[in-house]
Amino acid sequence: MKFFNYFNSCPNCGSKKNVQTQLGYSNRYLEEISKYLRIDEQELNSQSRNVKCGNCSLIYKKKWFKKKYLESIFNKLIPTHPKGWEKLSKSFNKLNFSKKIKSLIKIIQMKKYKHLPRKVREINSLVDSIDSKLLKTKLKNDFNRSIENKEIQLISRYSQKIKRKINKPAEFSRFKGFESLDLIKHIEKKIGQISSYAEIGCPLWGNLEYYNKLNKECFFVRGATFEFWGKNCKKNNIKCGAKLNKDIKKIHNLSNLNFNTKKDFIGIFLYLDHVVDPKKFFLKIFKNFKSCGIILEKTNKGVPIQHFSGWSEKTLKFLCREFGKKLDCTYKKLNKTGKDFYLIY
Ligand SMILES: [Zn+2]
Repeated sequence: MKFFNYFNSCPNCGSKKNVQTQLGYSNRYLEEISKYLRIDEQELNSQSRNVKCGNCSLIYKKKWFKKKYLESIFNKLIPTHPKGWEKLSKSFNKLNFSKKIKSLIKIIQMKKYKHLPRKVREINSLVDSIDSKLLKTKLKNDFNRSIENKEIQLISRYSQKIKRKINKPAEFSRFKGFESLDLIKHIEKKIGQISSYAEIGCPLWGNLEYYNKLNKECFFVRGATFEFWGKNCKKNNIKCGAKLNKDIKKIHNLSNLNFNTKKDFIGIFLYLDHVVDPKKFFLKIFKNFKSCGIILEKTNKGVPIQHFSGWSEKTLKFLCREFGKKLDCTYKKLNKTGKDFYLIY
């Protein structure tokens, strides 16, 4: 198909050995990209099925969108990176939850079911951000079942109970982002105090502001326009980059980056699985930074359409051997949100 580039060998290690893995899970991106390219959703999903490298265990897509289509996806089709703004949005509240439940019930009453998946996802993103200590799994399951069965009375009853639990977003939920003192403490325990801190990708969801307030040297590295949102990412006509404090230095392009001396740390949060050429990427990273922290979505549900690759401890161990680096996988607090944290130093 004209939309794809073909990968006949592993983009991490070059091996041609690979086995099929499960399909990616359906989500908003599959819905919108299939509409945009005019390919049936299931067809597109099976076309972009993932394989697993027999040598380094990287999961990757044998067909991946050409750069011009990726550019369009990240900058035109879905130009605003929803998770970044959600951290600033303050929309984790009871009122917003009630509104969404109301409109869910309306969708069911009017039988406008094509709007249902999106509404359910919006509601789930709120429910999933409730501290798991407060919300019992049984209530959550009952609530989900009531939606599946379209039982309006039960939806109302369970949602009333859930609403009472909405207070502050849980650590690492999408309404809190990756700003976490706990995570910072873990990193600094391993690599020592950080005096120069960077993040690549989204300027809104991490720890840049925290380090900036401590007067540390801070850098935000923009993602490549074919790999990540950013170019047209705005809300209420304000670009995401404009939300950053002026003292944080902005770097437009990783591939042009050449610091004279290496900086201490760069956060690569939910970015690596978008990278088309990981070898080149890590050459640049380790040329400019002594260490990096990587957050990745777990791959047990499959690698979704908007991700080119899926990484595991085994793959990162392979990478660390190549670069003579150490890997730490002991920080587990992101696991319950379906993600992993890896520190390479
Ligand atoms: Zn490989």
